[in-house]
Amino acid sequence: MKLELHLHTNRYSGCAMNTPEEMLARLVELDYQAVFLTEHDAVWSEREIRDLQNAWPQIRIFPGLELTLYNLKGFCHLLILGATEEEFLGMTDPGEVLLRAREKNYPTILAHPYRWEGAADMLEKGHYPDAIEGSTPNVPPPQAVMAQAAAGEMNMPVVNSGDAHDVDFLGQYWIETDQPVDTPAQLRQILLEGRYQNRSADEPN
Ligand SMILES: [Zn+2]
Ligand SMILES: [Zn+2]
Repeated sequence: MKLELHLHTNRYSGCAMNTPEEMLARLVELDYQAVFLTEHDAVWSEREIRDLQNAWPQIRIFPGLELTLYNLKGFCHLLILGATEEEFLGMTDPGEVLLRAREKNYPTILAHPYRWEGAADMLEKGHYPDAIEGSTPNVPPPQAVMAQAAAGEMNMPVVNSGDAHDVDFLGQYWIETDQPVDTPAQLRQILLEGRYQNRSADEPN
């Protein structure tokens, strides 16, 4: 199954160009089987997700969030997959966020750790999410290589994603698994156990 773990829509992310419906239509066209809608510092309601799911039975739709965590050098972007709780929006301490996410069994992924100063600060402070983001259309390849190297050193999983801000970001980088993903907790297990592959459009088939 083909999964998108990092996607924005113009419903809640000011920097995104397309509606949820436009993004879902493109995902279905590209044969994605599951998606996490991860908006910047905003959470979806369970009801909105249910309505979207009813309208798009072809693809499994999960909520999520990309939380900004400020530090002395700048800020980190942490993906919390499955989260709908507003309490996350008020949290500023990475340790507290990770603890709460783990209580809920939500996968946590540090997005684009080398995209700007401070983006990997939580790692330097010893706060390790479940995984680190590798290749996306939003990071130059050398930054993805740095993420791979850092993850290797820390023995953490690396995941490709679309970090999709419009429909053209889709179908470039994603992950695939032959395991079922019916809950965020299942995905977390899959990531931690490495039962997935990173994929990209430019690799030979
Ligand atoms: Zn980001
Ligand atoms: Zn993003």
